[in-house]
Amino acid sequence: MKIRLHDKDFVPYLSETEIDKAVTSIADQINKNFQDKKPLFLAVLNGSFMFTSDLMKKIEIDCELSFVKLASYHGTQSSGEIKELIGLSDNIYNRHVIILEDIVDTGTTLGHLMEVLKTHDTASISIATLLLKPDVFKKKYPLHFVGMEIPNKFVVGYGLDYNESGRNLKAIYQLEE
Ligand code: 5GP
Repeated sequence: MKIRLHDKDFVPYLSETEIDKAVTSIADQINKNFQDKKPLFLAVLNGSFMFTSDLMKKIEIDCELSFVKLASYHGTQSSGEIKELIGLSDNIYNRHVIILEDIVDTGTTLGHLMEVLKTHDTASISIATLLLKPDVFKKKYPLHFVGMEIPNKFVVGYGLDYNESGRNLKAIYQLEE
């Protein structure tokens, strides 16, 4: 069924069942690859909250979870937008860090986070994203766990918003052409 958020219409794209399959596939790989490594999940707010919650219920190995946020602000100089990482209070020294993202588009957001994390002596850094837009992603760094590849169209639901609306939707919807 079509839904309307603000001024735009969205049509169903990924069902709860399809999302669950993608989340399970990521969880299975992490359970296998990180046994005895006690990974530290770093979930990137806000969009990844629902994915994180569902994924964590499927993680069966010893692990920890922390939330970070990349806040945009405009610097006093004309250099444009700067991203500041908030919430990285845990000691990530020598830890196997797994970043949890809802969606990777150009990869710019994740690039900022990687830059910060690389300055810490972690044991490893992996990326798990529920969705990836491969036609847009042009960055060099590897994406280790990808739930689903989707076309370059704007999606909402399952944590993803359109001007803050739609995060509560259980399924994922695509902007109507
Ligand atoms: P990137 O920096 O990779 O270009 O964009 C990543 C961020 O942009 C995501 O974390 C998300 O907040 C937002 N984003 C990118 N594509 C979409 C989309 O299709 N729908 C929504 N709701 N947000 C998106």
